[in-house]
Amino acid sequence: MLTFFQSPRIKTQHDIHCGTLYAHFMGLFTKHLADGKISSDIFIYSLQNRLLELLKKVGKSDLHCHSGRGGNINYLLTGKNNRKDFPLGYFSSLEHMQIFYHTNIKKYFSCKEGLCKRWEASFVRAKEENVKVLVLSFTPSKIFFLGGMQSFMKTVNRLHATYAPNIIFFPELTFERTCDVNLEFERLDEILEPNWFKSIDICSNESAKPIKAFKKIFRKAKENTLRLKAHVGEFGTADDVQSAVEYLELDEVHHGIAAASSKKVMNWLAKHKIQLNICPSSNVLLKRVDSYKRHPIRELYDAGIPVTINTDNTLIFNKSVSEEYLSLFECGLMTAKELDEIRMHGLRAAKVSNK
Ligand SMILES: [Zn+2]
Repeated sequence: MLTFFQSPRIKTQHDIHCGTLYAHFMGLFTKHLADGKISSDIFIYSLQNRLLELLKKVGKSDLHCHSGRGGNINYLLTGKNNRKDFPLGYFSSLEHMQIFYHTNIKKYFSCKEGLCKRWEASFVRAKEENVKVLVLSFTPSKIFFLGGMQSFMKTVNRLHATYAPNIIFFPELTFERTCDVNLEFERLDEILEPNWFKSIDICSNESAKPIKAFKKIFRKAKENTLRLKAHVGEFGTADDVQSAVEYLELDEVHHGIAAASSKKVMNWLAKHKIQLNICPSSNVLLKRVDSYKRHPIRELYDAGIPVTINTDNTLIFNKSVSEEYLSLFECGLMTAKELDEIRMHGLRAAKVSNK
């Protein structure tokens, strides 16, 4: 294996011959990708040689992905006239992003069939880049749009079984910050009764409502042994991250990048082993950070906080989780070995924490 890694790159004048060799090695590699050591070697080699297709073949996790927004744009919009609206650029705010999404994507897929197509696209994208462990989040409104828990579960389980049966799939229940907490609490028993969801989350605009408003929902979720998470510190402050974790007894935080502005908060998160599920492209395109090169995952990782790398909204940001790893490597922020440690942590953590 090392002999191949150390061999010269494929030369264009030997395309046919080397293409055959390449295909042979790809087949060989794929057969052995289940082996942890070999998959790490291939992952590191793929990054160092910018081989995205090979990188996609290495097992990885995607622990933060909104279910209706996790697909590949071209898969979903094939045949639609609006493809000329892409590629995407920066967004000036979360509201700007939502308007873009509704105008360019969701309006074509807002009926039940369209929603199912978007969920299908999420499973297809994850399978295409060899995601082994996938967390997809669903809002309660989607459950009732599909007619209640039974028909909702049946639909999502069918999509999972049809498009990505080998992926370990953990469904997450997510509440918009703007939601009617009392209404959601009233129908929580019905949602949790089948014991289908494995975790709970709060998403969208952090300033819409104090996180304390969700205490009774999170208390009930904990009684039902769900893993507790929330979007915090994407737009808020480092103190917001710590206080949300303390008050709601969070196990993980989606984003949490603001913690990097406080050594005290970073040390606290590291001490309590609070995992941050980082989505670099989301942070860059929403202008929460200046660039990949200056992404605070560097400081968070160095502080000893468990971090994972995820997609958030691939339909909008147009980046697979494989490309997220590649972006952090290419800009020189993280080494291939460090990124492999993060990849392996994501695979281990997901299996342990989402049971
Ligand atoms: Zn998110």
